[in-house]
Amino acid sequence: MLLAPSFRQLPERFYSLDAIAPLPNASIGLLNHRLLQDLKADAHEVSGALLGLVGAAGSMSAGEPIATGYAGHQFGSFVPTLGDGRAHLVGEILDPSQRRSDVQFKGSGRTIYSRGGDGRATLGSVLREYLLGECLHALGIPTTRALAVISTGAPVLRETVKPGAILVRVAASHLRVGSFQYYACRGDLEGLRLLADYAMARHDADLIGEDHRYRRFLGRVVERQARLIAQWMSVGFIHGVMNTDNMTISGETLDYGPCAFLDHMDPGKVFSSIDRGGRYAYGNQPNIALWNLTRFAETLLPLLAEDEEEAIAQARAELETYAPAYEAAYTMHFARKLGLASVEEADSRLVADLLNLMSAERVDFTVFFRQLSDCPLGDPAVARAAAHFADPAGFAAWRQRWEARLATTGRSAEAIAAAMRAVNPAYIARNHRVEEAIAAAEEAGDLGPAQELAEWLSAPYTERPGGERYQSGPLPHEVVRQTFCGT
Ligand code: AMP
Ligand code: MG
Repeated sequence: MLLAPSFRQLPERFYSLDAIAPLPNASIGLLNHRLLQDLKADAHEVSGALLGLVGAAGSMSAGEPIATGYAGHQFGSFVPTLGDGRAHLVGEILDPSQRRSDVQFKGSGRTIYSRGGDGRATLGSVLREYLLGECLHALGIPTTRALAVISTGAPVLRETVKPGAILVRVAASHLRVGSFQYYACRGDLEGLRLLADYAMARHDADLIGEDHRYRRFLGRVVERQARLIAQWMSVGFIHGVMNTDNMTISGETLDYGPCAFLDHMDPGKVFSSIDRGGRYAYGNQPNIALWNLTRFAETLLPLLAEDEEEAIAQARAELETYAPAYEAAYTMHFARKLGLASVEEADSRLVADLLNLMSAERVDFTVFFRQLSDCPLGDPAVARAAAHFADPAGFAAWRQRWEARLATTGRSAEAIAAAMRAVNPAYIARNHRVEEAIAAAEEAGDLGPAQELAEWLSAPYTERPGGERYQSGPLPHEVVRQTFCGT
C-alpha cells in the first residue's frame, strides 16, 4: 500500500535517510476509519504496516523513512535550518482517483534536524491535531489529515511526564514556504529549481513546460493561500503559529499547534501562549499570509527572470492578486453565511457591520451564526439571536438591512434558512471539548472522549439529539484562555 516517497527522486542533499528508533511497546491508539474509507485502504493492513514502520514488537520491519530540511521565519525571525526534527516521511499513497499523498510520522523520534529536541510528541498534541484536522476537513477546508494515532508506549518529558504518541499524517505534500527558503538562503539555485519543478509536479502539473511557469506557480500558491485563509476566517479558526515553515505550497492547513476556534468574536483574539505580540491573532491572519507569501516570492526571484528588476516586477504582480482573491473569497463565504448565494457591492459592509456588533458584545461566533440561520423563519429564532446583544437596537437595525437584502433574492424563508444551516456549522472543535478529550486521554488513558468528539465533528451541519454539549459555548469555568504547543 505504501509507495516510496517521490521526494527521494531529488538529489541526496534534499533529505537524510533517518531510521526510526524501534518502539517495541507501540500500539495503534486511534484509526481514522473515515479517511481509510476515502483511501479505500484496509484497516488491518494499514495498522500492521504502521506498526512495522515503528518497529513494534512482533511486527515486520519495513521502509526507509527520510527527514527533509526546511528553513523558516519564526515569529518574523529567520532560521536557516529547521527541518523535520521530529518527523519522518515514510511513504506515499495513491487514493482511488490516483491522487498522491505523503504519509508522514510526527513524533517518531530524533533526526539530523532535531537540534536539542527529543523528536517526540505528546499524546495531547497529537490528539489536538487529529481532532482539529478532522473538524476542518468536515467543514470543507483544505487540510492535512490524521490517518492514525500511534501510542508509543514511551513517556515524554515536558513540564511533567506525558504519554507519547505519533501522528500519522496524510498530506497533499509537506512542501512549505520554508522548504524554498532553505535552498534560497543557501544560494543553491539548482536546488531551488529542482524543488520548484518537484512542487509543480505534485500540485500544478498542468504548468510543466509552460511559458512563465514559475511565475504562474507563484500565482497558484498565492491564490490557494488566499482562499484557505478566507475559509479559516469564515469559521473563526486561529492557526496560532503561521511561521513560514508552517505554510504549505499545496494550500492545505498544516501543523496544528496551539490552534483554536474563536469562542466570542474578537479580531484581536490570541490563544497561543507563545504569541505574546499577537502576531498571529485571528484578524491578523490575512496580512500575515501575505507577508509569508512575499517571503515565498523572494525565494523564487532567480527563477522568474534573469534581470532582477524584471523578476521583482513579476513577483509583485502575482502578490498583488492576493488581496482581491482574499477579499472575494472572504465576502463570498460570509455572504453565504448570511444566506446570500451571490455577492453584491454593499454586502461586504453588511458583513463587516455584523462582525463589529458581535465583537462589541463578545457574541459567540459559531453559536450565533447557527442561530441566525433560523432567523428568516421568524420567532422564536429572532428573539434567540437578539438575546446575544445587551443593546438590541444595533442588531435590530442591522437585521432590517439584512432582511431587505434577503428580500431581493426572491428565495423563500425556508430555502434561505436551509442554505444557511448548510454553511454555518452546529459542531466545531470547541476548545473546551478538545481540552476535555485531551485530559481524558492523557490523565486516564481514555481515548473514548476524543473518539466521541471526532464523531460529532464529522457531520458539522446536521444537528442530532444529544449534541447540545458539543454545540454550546463554554460555561465560565470551562473557558479556555490559553493553548500550548506541547513541543
Ligand atoms: P513546530 O513548532 O512543530 O512547527 O516545529 C518547529 C521546528 O521545531 C521544526 O523544525 C520541528 O521539527 C522542531 N521541533 C519541534 N518539536 C520538536 C521536538 N520535540 N524535537 C525535535 N525537534 C522539534
Ligand atoms: Mg511546524
